[in-house]
Amino acid sequence: MSQSVEDIKAGFPLFGDKDYQDMMARKREMFEEGHDAEKVKEVFEWTTSEEYKELNFARKTLTINPAKACQPLGSVLCALGFENTLPYVHGSQGCVAYFRSYFNRHFKEPVACVSDSMTEDAAVFGGQKNMFDGLQNALALYKPDAIMVSTTCMAEVIGDDLNAFIGNAKKEGYIPEDLPTPFAHTPSFVGSHVTGWDNMFEGAARYFTIKEMEDKEVGSNGKINLVPGFETYLGNYRVMHRMMQEMGVDYSLLCDPSEVLDTPADGEYRMYAGGTSIAEMKDAPNAKTTILLQPDQLVKTKKFVEGTWKHEVPATSIPMGLDWTDEFLMKVSEISGKEIPESLAKERGRLVDMMTDSHTWLHGVSFSIYGDPDYLLGLTKFLQELGCEVKHILANNGNKRWRKKMEKLIAEGPGTANAEIHVGKDLWHFRSLVFTNKPDFMIGNSYAKFIQRDTKAKGDEFEVPLIRLGFPIFDRHHLHRNTTLGYEGGMYMLTTLVNTVLEKLDDDTRQMGKTDYGHDLVR
Ligand code: SF4
Repeated sequence: MSQSVEDIKAGFPLFGDKDYQDMMARKREMFEEGHDAEKVKEVFEWTTSEEYKELNFARKTLTINPAKACQPLGSVLCALGFENTLPYVHGSQGCVAYFRSYFNRHFKEPVACVSDSMTEDAAVFGGQKNMFDGLQNALALYKPDAIMVSTTCMAEVIGDDLNAFIGNAKKEGYIPEDLPTPFAHTPSFVGSHVTGWDNMFEGAARYFTIKEMEDKEVGSNGKINLVPGFETYLGNYRVMHRMMQEMGVDYSLLCDPSEVLDTPADGEYRMYAGGTSIAEMKDAPNAKTTILLQPDQLVKTKKFVEGTWKHEVPATSIPMGLDWTDEFLMKVSEISGKEIPESLAKERGRLVDMMTDSHTWLHGVSFSIYGDPDYLLGLTKFLQELGCEVKHILANNGNKRWRKKMEKLIAEGPGTANAEIHVGKDLWHFRSLVFTNKPDFMIGNSYAKFIQRDTKAKGDEFEVPLIRLGFPIFDRHHLHRNTTLGYEGGMYMLTTLVNTVLEKLDDDTRQMGKTDYGHDLVR
């Protein structure tokens, strides 16, 4: 074989070598019993057709590549945002291996999370014994100040009761009575990762405050609470801190995993780093109010904050793009009584300047987009501000309320008025959409790279390049450190979009003496 210790090759050049090519051809011929190339091409072509799209959209009982993850994945991210807190999932070990590897691949960081490894016997007799041992071991080994517990499908199907199990674990001495153990049931067969985040946050808010509300008074600590929701751009936590500090506003960012998911390589492993303290959570009802940064996904949190903390939650949108960042900052200014400082006004001006500089390249460019509900609202709004067109908007985890909001939003922009909105659909549907009504670009997570490959396989003129914004991004490095919220986020997204458009133009006009009339040095 062509691999040798003197010349180690990665898979890409290696598998192109003749001996590997011959081996793969023999394997195909002897074992795969595949169809001939002509038949494969014929079926492939059919899957790109309008006829196939109709059949694809008639599909009812099968999901292919769902464009969402399950609830406990969101609950784990939420738990990571609290100081010295260990995420603990009551259920199967394989699920937790999946959550950890999902986050490892996205953040390129180790992610601490334990499971109590329920197996067949626990599925029959209940998982209380697993929880006793699991909590005891987790505390002894990893010494957290708090353990936040959520559940996998398995625990939910058999109906395990977290409140009772954790209470019994304390009564029987497996863990101390005073160890903070917020919990949330996170059944994966409903909702998605964003619901799981919401459930876990509400569980934590409830655990730390519901029995201590007598001495609380709205506004007494003078702060504004910010609740991020399921957020994987670490820059978004940092930009919130920066904007609040520049405004001189007293605030609490309730849940912040930006340190533990971005620890330095200095020879010391940190299982816990940064995060919102329990004291800050306990003090949260004393704030003037709570602003939800992704209000559409924080339904349970909103209900709790309004019902128990008695906060009047302002009706804001995700602070993405120009207009909705303005709205957010003006609301913060109104509540806090602090002026929006010159530094932020300047930053806004810079974003406007960038939008003006790039608008000739972005105006009229069409996009098909998918992702989580709040993010899609923000992205659509920003694309409108840039003069772009939107052809398809797909949220597997959207709902009727979200669809209504999105319908109202797309009606506001000439470039989005004809956008199709798809709720509860998956990436195999999305593939049909971009084949039958081609956009210039797709915006989504890493999974759509296979759709780009498929569109290119049909022919260069059908290729729909993918712009990677969202979660998860496994196949490009460090994008999660960027920012998508605030004016700073607008700058990052705008730079990403316009430079992809210019890169594509270069690609399309690179042939020497033939198409290089568009291969310009200055744009
Ligand atoms: S959907 Fe259920 S079984 Fe699958 S990873 Fe999530 S919790 Fe585990």
